[in-house]
Amino acid sequence: MSILTKGMIANSVIVSAVETKDIVNRAIKIHNLSPVGACAMGRTLTMALLMGKEFKDKKDYLTVIIDGDGPLGKITVCADGDGHVKGDIENPVAETVVKENGHLDVGSAVGRNGTLTVIKDIGLKQPYVGTSPLVSGEIANDFAYYFANSEQQPCGVTLGVGLDKKRCRSAGGVFVQVLPNCPEDLLGRIETVMYAMDEMSYQFDHSTAEDVIKRFFGEFDLVITEHSEVSYKCNCNKRKIDRVVRSLGREEANAIIAEQGQIEVCCHFCGKKYTYDQQATDKLFDK
Ligand SMILES: [Zn+2]
Repeated sequence: MSILTKGMIANSVIVSAVETKDIVNRAIKIHNLSPVGACAMGRTLTMALLMGKEFKDKKDYLTVIIDGDGPLGKITVCADGDGHVKGDIENPVAETVVKENGHLDVGSAVGRNGTLTVIKDIGLKQPYVGTSPLVSGEIANDFAYYFANSEQQPCGVTLGVGLDKKRCRSAGGVFVQVLPNCPEDLLGRIETVMYAMDEMSYQFDHSTAEDVIKRFFGEFDLVITEHSEVSYKCNCNKRKIDRVVRSLGREEANAIIAEQGQIEVCCHFCGKKYTYDQQATDKLFDK
């Protein structure tokens, strides 16, 4: 079970953290992620959960698209305001390169040329869409740059995924948002702490999100405001897949059945398979 914890420092800095080991392991299993794929996807899932928890309504929804020129291809992650997240990645088995310092080279695998796009659907006529260029492909820096430039929101982001062979050993992230009323001296002290937040993949080893927040921000005037459960959950259903099959057109659908005996649609986000035989297909098009 993964828990997200939020706190407030001196009424002027919002700190949130989330522990995501189980969520990353679920993603590894669904997508058969290579180690570097697990790091990139895990960091993005972690950040999307932290961002989703900022929504006022549980039904609000965000989509993050990281589209770099590296071998992993496009990463798409969706999260709602109720602590659910899911993700898809173009090339989950991209080869893992280890840097001289022993870290996996996530930046090269994602690619340093490309964009980070955030689409927020909060029930308005048009969704909000913000885009910024990737700065390092390491994900956390890319999000920090996005917030500063696209949402004019100064914040700190640190994300980590630690692996033990092909399994996630520990994972999590910390998101620090500075409100406009934050005094300069407090901002300086918070920044100093953020710079020192290293090796995030180890911080969540046998530690909860609250432990991590207190470890770094315990010296401040900190109030823990919320704990909530978060999970990897897909919202695909038969009705949505019906629409996909219908979009093929009757002729194409029948041609697939003639060739393969049935139509099989696999959800990119959770791997669930939906099948349609001739009878089910006829029913769909006769509607
Ligand atoms: Zn699904």
